[in-house]
Amino acid sequence: MLLLGSPGVGKGTQADILAALWGIPKISTGDILRANVSKGTALGVQASDVMRRGDLVPDHLITEMVADRLSASDTVRGFILDGFPRTIQQALWLGDYLAISRWNGRLAIVSMQMDSPKIIERIVNRRICPTCKTTYNIHSMPPKLEGRCDRDGSVLIQRNDDKIDVIEQRFEVFRQETEPLIKHYQDHPVFMEVCADRPTSVVTEEIITGIELRSKFNSGKGDDSAS
Ligand code: AMP
Repeated sequence: MLLLGSPGVGKGTQADILAALWGIPKISTGDILRANVSKGTALGVQASDVMRRGDLVPDHLITEMVADRLSASDTVRGFILDGFPRTIQQALWLGDYLAISRWNGRLAIVSMQMDSPKIIERIVNRRICPTCKTTYNIHSMPPKLEGRCDRDGSVLIQRNDDKIDVIEQRFEVFRQETEPLIKHYQDHPVFMEVCADRPTSVVTEEIITGIELRSKFNSGKGDDSAS
């Protein structure tokens, strides 16, 4: 399954919940890149400035990284992509890759939507745990102890690119490069749109119901396009 939506719409939170529920991995290209940046790998060095500016890392680096991650054994029963694909080129690559893969081209797409003023507020108030990657919001989803992760006690941080001066650029990149993917996928048999401006659990339930319904409907028609 893949989650589409602008920065801050809640893709990561939904991906975490669904991955735990279905027992499949969440694959966040942003998380993999940030891990490479902090380890100082060759990929991290190439990606670091681009990410700090709020631009996109070149497609060929990203697809190589995703192919490598998808080849791991924990993806056998499926996976949830968070933050990939972000360009038409990446989506075309994914389609080709899945078509000849162990998943037989099967894919479910969830497009999450929300008005941008609310998203900006969410992003500037977002804090993450550098250890376990749990995401908090200092107003709507604060940790029990201020500034500390509930799970492992690490000091929460703000992502460099969650700062106000970079956010506008990230939205612009989303509008230019990623939004066209909604059109690209909207006639796919297992495509759904969900309003993300509601409590997390409501959004999760709607995604689960929507995906199950569409998958059943399509398998009834002889197309087993379930995630
Ligand atoms: P995210 O955590 O998904 O918001 O990603 C953080 C940053 O990583 C983005 O602003 C991009 O610079 C980079 N990035 C993540 N995923 C991709 C992707 N699929 N293609 C290109 N760049 C990406």
